Amino acid sequence: MLDAAHKILHTYFGYNTFREGQTEIVSALLNKQDVLAIMPTGAGKSICYQVPAMLFEGLTLVISPLISLMQDQVHALNQVGIAAAFLNSSLSIEKQNQVLADTKNNAYTLLYIAPEQLLTQRFLLLSKEITISFISIDEAHCISQWGHDFRPGYLRVTDYINQLPTRPIIGAFTATATKIVKADITQILNLDDPFSITTGFDRPNLSFSVHKTNNTFNEIKAYLAQKHGLSGIIYCSTRVAVESIHAQLLESNYAATLYHAGLLAETKLANQHAFVRDEVPIIVATNAFGMGIDKSNVSFVIHHNMPKNIESYYQEAGRAGRDGSPAQCLLFYSGSDVRTNQFFLDTMEQGENTSDVQFLEFKAFEQERLKKMTFFCYTEDCLRHYILAYFGENTASYCGNCSNCLDNFEQYDVTIPAQKILSCIKRMGENFGIKMVVDVLRGSKNSRLLTLRLNEQKTYDILADTSETQIRHIIQQLLVLGYLITTNGQYPTLKLTSMSLELLLGKSTLSMNIPKNIPLPQKNKSQTITFANPELFSILQKLRQTLAKKQNIPAYLIFSNATLNEICQKRPATLEQMATINGIGKIKLEQYGRLFLDILSDYEH
Ligand code: ADP
Ligand code: ZN
Repeated sequence: MLDAAHKILHTYFGYNTFREGQTEIVSALLNKQDVLAIMPTGAGKSICYQVPAMLFEGLTLVISPLISLMQDQVHALNQVGIAAAFLNSSLSIEKQNQVLADTKNNAYTLLYIAPEQLLTQRFLLLSKEITISFISIDEAHCISQWGHDFRPGYLRVTDYINQLPTRPIIGAFTATATKIVKADITQILNLDDPFSITTGFDRPNLSFSVHKTNNTFNEIKAYLAQKHGLSGIIYCSTRVAVESIHAQLLESNYAATLYHAGLLAETKLANQHAFVRDEVPIIVATNAFGMGIDKSNVSFVIHHNMPKNIESYYQEAGRAGRDGSPAQCLLFYSGSDVRTNQFFLDTMEQGENTSDVQFLEFKAFEQERLKKMTFFCYTEDCLRHYILAYFGENTASYCGNCSNCLDNFEQYDVTIPAQKILSCIKRMGENFGIKMVVDVLRGSKNSRLLTLRLNEQKTYDILADTSETQIRHIIQQLLVLGYLITTNGQYPTLKLTSMSLELLLGKSTLSMNIPKNIPLPQKNKSQTITFANPELFSILQKLRQTLAKKQNIPAYLIFSNATLNEICQKRPATLEQMATINGIGKIKLEQYGRLFLDILSDYEH
């Protein structure tokens, strides 16, 4: 069975291996066992139900909370050649009837449906006439009042399942679930001895930073100035802040849109659409925005204020870098954030179905979560370590990729590593940029490096024990101090100066502050991608955007950033080579392979 699953993963989705947790979940489902899966945003939950759906006889229903996003999910499946449709109130009655008729004729493998549709007479009737083998419940925490996104509509799912002639396999998926929420999901959905899995919460490609500031907007502006055109989300805790930051961005000539619960439904939809389709790179939003958004090319998430708890924070921040490309999560906070959150907590209303005792318990629980969130802003420990410890994971206390790890510098005598770096640059003919120099020093096997036979250099692999962060840091400092210069132009290359010759000859020594010498964790290193060739990347991006526009779908559904980046790195020359790239399955190869190859062959550098 698993062989068949691998084949589908490869042929349709263009991926070679399942990620952590996916294999176990897929095989449990294929053995007809219920599943409760807790996986962080970006871990790849969709594959876990889409692949089994292809192997089950009848229809797979996917219950999803946000009707506005079902369409994108269905487009994504159609792009890889899988028959899928969605049913919700955004469709005209004729279209809804068409989908129902097609469902009856077994035209689809997956049907995405809003919970509100489940108990309609027509859908119940239809459900009894066809075989529903599997029901996948996305964002399953919405079923619990203890979760942060309770949706009463989700309670209909159980009613619906109880009315089916045979009980399908049930899979519940969510990114965040505390013990209470987990118990609620299992109990309310009546999961039958489910295979329960919580995968690692680490997202190695995300870098975290926390900054205390009194002028957040200026800091945000300074940050955005380096992020030309990259896509990002700015979360604010109130609608007023959203409006104000949005207005200030426009005033400073940044293209941005906005989203909060106070906007008209059609405005919200239009703004979200513009962001998802890359028509506007930045969206300023309250936490009302984001659930169900699968946009994989979000490069940064900024929090303008401290959120109310780590769960919300990690879920929101986790919307960056879903495709595994490097991405940044910045949190700004000021003393007043704690007060604002405290105010929200103090003025929280008791729900109709909540007893006084429950309400007090709930408040105490929220208070505790707010405290942990506040500590996050003040801790001097590794931020990643703090988050993962919060979710119960034991990890190294240094990640090298968060503001605390990076701020914890130490004075080092770097004469020897600096000599190695300078000598490497010299031997490479002073013809390369930072990335390639770092790769050579660290003994990378990137294909361009191998093609240019840079692995035969004497300096290849001589700083293998120094982290990339450290080498880059030393190079940056060498530039600042005048030991190196870069050429201008599109491909800046590193060049030596007279000062560097002295250092190379051992006539001077050099000390500098560099991050503490704790090796970066090796785990998951392959997931971290740095953009190989920004110019080629942006050319490919343009082609992707044109193709997406023609079909009126978001660009990332054509190829993810990670796939584009791999194309830049490998520069395939034939369709066969193209097929080896992650994210290019059979259909996408047929549809887009040639077009991308043509661009690559025209590209000279
Ligand atoms: P989640 O729903 O858990 O947030 P998604 O299902 O949206 O995550 O997947 C996130 C990204 O990871 C998508 O771009 C998806 O195509 C990619 N992905 C999922 N599984 C794999 C895999 N096995 N190999 C490579 N990429 C994968
Ligand atoms: Zn860290």
